[in-house]
Amino acid sequence: MAKEYRTMRNDVTLPYQWALGKTWSRFFDGLKDGRIQGTKCAGCGRVYVPARSFCPVCFTDTTQWVDVKPEGKILTWTLVREKYLGQVQEPPYVVALIQLDGSDCGFSHFIGGFDLSDAGQLKRKLKTGAKVKAVWSPVRNADIRDITCFVPVE
Ligand SMILES: [Zn+2]
Repeated sequence: MAKEYRTMRNDVTLPYQWALGKTWSRFFDGLKDGRIQGTKCAGCGRVYVPARSFCPVCFTDTTQWVDVKPEGKILTWTLVREKYLGQVQEPPYVVALIQLDGSDCGFSHFIGGFDLSDAGQLKRKLKTGAKVKAVWSPVRNADIRDITCFVPVE
């Protein structure tokens, strides 16, 4: 006969901070000014957004800053319907990897601007390669939410 154990529920929260460093600080300061900046690798020419201090492909330090367009194409996306600890937005919402024009990598952000409960509209608007553009927040604090979301370009 299996022994019964009593349990009790407890939630653990883990507030934390990390140092942004020079590269991410400059990237977020750019967002406050309405600019999306990346860094360009002197070795292979790839442009990274968010900016990186070195190229993860050829391990060359990135020293050149470039402005990229606040629009690009969806590389992949997912619809988040479930709640989990630490979410900054109430589900449902869409997160996508967006390749901004002028960059060579995916930039993770929210997709919005339409009714996510309409499955037909969701399928029509969110496809790999679909064009999207940034919607800037009217209040900017030099953080990732200075861009509210990206919306499909009709
Ligand atoms: Zn490189």
